[in-house]
Order: sequence, then structure tokens, then C-alpha cells
Amino acid sequence: MIDAVSQGVFFFWLYFNWFLSSHFMSLNFDLHSHSTVSDGLLSPADLVAYAAKQGVDVLALTDHDDVSGLASAQAAAQAHNIAFINGVEISVTWKKRTLHIVGLNIDPEHAALKAALARVRLAREQRAMQMGEGLAKAGIEQAYQGAKRLAQQSIITRVHFARYLVEQGLVKDIKTVFKKYLVKGKPGFVEHQWMDLQQAVELIIASGGTAVIAHPGRYDLGSVNMLQLLHDFRSYGGVAIEVVTSSHTPPQYQQFAKLAHQFSLKSSRGSDYHGQGVSFMDMGRLADLPSGCVPVWQDWPALQVAPTPA
Ligand code: AMP
Ligand code: MN
Ligand code: MN
Ligand code: MN
Repeated sequence: MIDAVSQGVFFFWLYFNWFLSSHFMSLNFDLHSHSTVSDGLLSPADLVAYAAKQGVDVLALTDHDDVSGLASAQAAAQAHNIAFINGVEISVTWKKRTLHIVGLNIDPEHAALKAALARVRLAREQRAMQMGEGLAKAGIEQAYQGAKRLAQQSIITRVHFARYLVEQGLVKDIKTVFKKYLVKGKPGFVEHQWMDLQQAVELIIASGGTAVIAHPGRYDLGSVNMLQLLHDFRSYGGVAIEVVTSSHTPPQYQQFAKLAHQFSLKSSRGSDYHGQGVSFMDMGRLADLPSGCVPVWQDWPALQVAPTPA
């Protein structure tokens, strides 16, 4: 009798674990995206609605250096029955290079984080004026004013300058503007000191969040610097790197899965979606993490969401 009961309990336990893992594993996580609060094309609420339509189950909004879209995105996520993660993508300087660090599950009301992001946005404004001056010397007038108009209330980024030049018919597309005007050595490029890597990681942690290196394959660091970066990042308390993201190739998924393993870092998955026509990949279409990766969401509390049927 007792045996039958304990056997029943055992099988129930097995079934329950299978149910949890199979359902949790099949959730479609997208932990990197942008709205009009930074350089995305959709408002936070429209972005969430689009993510839900595309089958995303768990979405993080990670606007550049700004958390002001999170409240409305959270409300929209509730309406669309998807889980929502408070995020941010912080621009940092490490060894004179610009890198991006994603913070997940941050507290947008954390005073020190808010103050530091406000300083980054102020510095962005000054950088944008200098970019305008550089472009004026190359014969492009009113670029700062034009970019500012396109940015509306949001932070001003190089993308807004690129949109202005395309709007004015000066360059055929955004990609070409970057190549001809907005990268190192070109007239609209300004060397800029962003937040220190260590400070960004520590602020993310202080606000209750998890620090993730965004799209590590984009930095063209070389292997020695990449190893140094992963070492430094981990020593500051960084937890994960993006392994599957729209700007990585499938061989890079494997390469960064291996590096994550080597440095005992977890793996993240995010589209870096900015809007239709300006993103490498649509939402909801990312590959799964390679097998063996420890997902950054591994120990997150159970998410209140029903998985979208495959
Ligand atoms: P900023 O933070 O102002 O330097 O702007 C960087 C943003 O520009 C990135 O987050 C991307 O969204 C975008 N970006 C960077 N490089 C390119 C490129 N080559 N083509 C199109 N967009 C780019
Ligand atoms: Mn961007
Ligand atoms: Mn980025
Ligand atoms: Mn991004």
C-alpha cells in the first residue's frame, strides 16, 4: 500500500518536473529590444504587442541608457499576457572601446542607476552637438537640429543622425550613412567617454539586476582582448553573455557558447530588435541556445505565462 502511494508520488514528481522543464524550455525568450525611448521605431506598448504577435513569451525592453519606457511596456505585457523583464542597455567604455552591457531585472527606480543614466544622457546631448559640428564641416547643415527633431523626446543616437541624412536625400540608406559619416575616422564621429564598465556592472547589480555583455561578436576585439574582457566582466560581477542574438552568425553561437562555458558565464538570447526594416532579424525568430548553455533565466522565479504553441 505504502509502496503504491510512494510510487504514485514518485511518478507524479517525475511528470511534474518533465512538465515544468518542457514548458519552461519551450518559452520563447527575447531579452534585448528597443523602443522609441531610444532608437527603436515602435513605442514601448506597440513593441510589446508586436512581440506577443510574433510568439515571444518573455520580453525584455532594453533601451539605450534609458528606463523610461519600462512602465508602459509592463502594462502592455499584462494586457497581452506575456511576461516582461525590466531591462536597459548601457553604453560603456572599456580599454577605449565602446561596448554595450544589458541589465536584466533591474529596478528602474533605483536612485544611483537613475542618476548615472541621466548623466549618460546629458553627455549624449553634448556629443550630438559635436557630431553636428563635425557634419557641418563636411557640408551637412542643421544635422543636430534634424536628428533632435527625429529623436523627439527620446535620447539622441547616431541612428537619428543617420535617419536625418536619409530623410534629406543626402545618402541612400542608414547603413551607408554609418559607413560614410558616423564611424571612427568619419566627419560625424566623436570619440566619447561612456560609463566605466565596472561602474555599469556594479550599478546593475546594486539595482537588483543581472549584467549581460550584449552582442560580444560585434566588437572585433581579437581573441586576447575578448578573453581579457570576459575575465574583467566576471570579476566585476557580470553573469552572462549574449550567445544567440541577431548580429551573430550560427558559428558565433557556438563560439560564444564555448566561451561562456569556459568562463562559467550564463547565456542570453535576444533579438536586439529596433523595428521593421532596420533590424537584422524579425522578432520571435531567434535560434535556440546551443545545447549545454546555462540560460541566464535558469534560476528566475516561475514566470506567469502560458507558452505560445509552437
Ligand atoms: P550610439 O549609441 O548613439 O553610438 O548609436 C549606436 C546605435 O546605432 C546602435 O545601438 C545601433 O542601433 C546603431 N548602429 C550602429 N552601427 C550601425 C550600422 N553600421 N548600421 C546601422 N545601425 C547601426
Ligand atoms: Mn540601437
Ligand atoms: Mn547594442
Ligand atoms: Mn541593442
